[in-house]
Amino acid sequence: MTESKPAAIDEVGLLLKVLRFAADKHKHQRRKDRERTPYINHPIDVAERIWNHGQFHDINAVCGALLHDTVEDTDASFEEIEALFGKAITDIVREVTDDKSLPKAARKQAQIDHGPHLSVAARHIKLGDKTSNVTDVCRSAPPDWTKERCSEYLTWTEKVVSTISGTNKGMEADYYAILEEARRES
Ligand code: NDP
Ligand code: ZN
Repeated sequence: MTESKPAAIDEVGLLLKVLRFAADKHKHQRRKDRERTPYINHPIDVAERIWNHGQFHDINAVCGALLHDTVEDTDASFEEIEALFGKAITDIVREVTDDKSLPKAARKQAQIDHGPHLSVAARHIKLGDKTSNVTDVCRSAPPDWTKERCSEYLTWTEKVVSTISGTNKGMEADYYAILEEARRES
């Protein structure tokens, strides 16, 4: 008699594969904070916010969170991600990847314009991503950022988050609390 594996076993296996892929792709990169934190800490933070703070238990969203900056910031391609992890996860990564052919200002505006059209999984990633980055600006802003630049960045994240309002009460409460703290600190 063959015993079927519980779904959770497969999900943990997938999660670990995704995590290893993302860690490998980001292995030479650092974040912009004063401590130059290893890059992978950020996608892990986003994924953990979705699962634990947000209680949004969607494995594809969490895998998408771990992969959310791979195509934008490394040599990873959508084709590679689809071959390894399937179309559902790749579609989510596509939704949260900026079009790098656009100039910086247009890319920032596109995040605001696209917010209302994102899937529920992609909205959770946006929310976790902005909360993670605002947390970093609050605790340890990039050393070359002026107060004005920090303030502009916070304002932009608030615009993006306002376009996905109603996605997740707990995560939105976390975001606004850290935004307020960041504004007090800067
Ligand atoms: P960004 O302002 O886009 O940098 C922020 C991004 O860097 C985040 O969204 C995040 O993206 C990533 N990041 C990595 N580490 C950190 C961290 N510790 N804290 C916060 N974010 C982090 O940077 P650019 O240099 O690309 O500049 C883009 C825009 O900034 C320009 O369009 C311009 O308008 C503005 N600018 C303003 C200046 C000013 O003095 N006012 C000067 C220069 C530019 P992710 O999670 O995707 O990695
Ligand atoms: Zn990010």
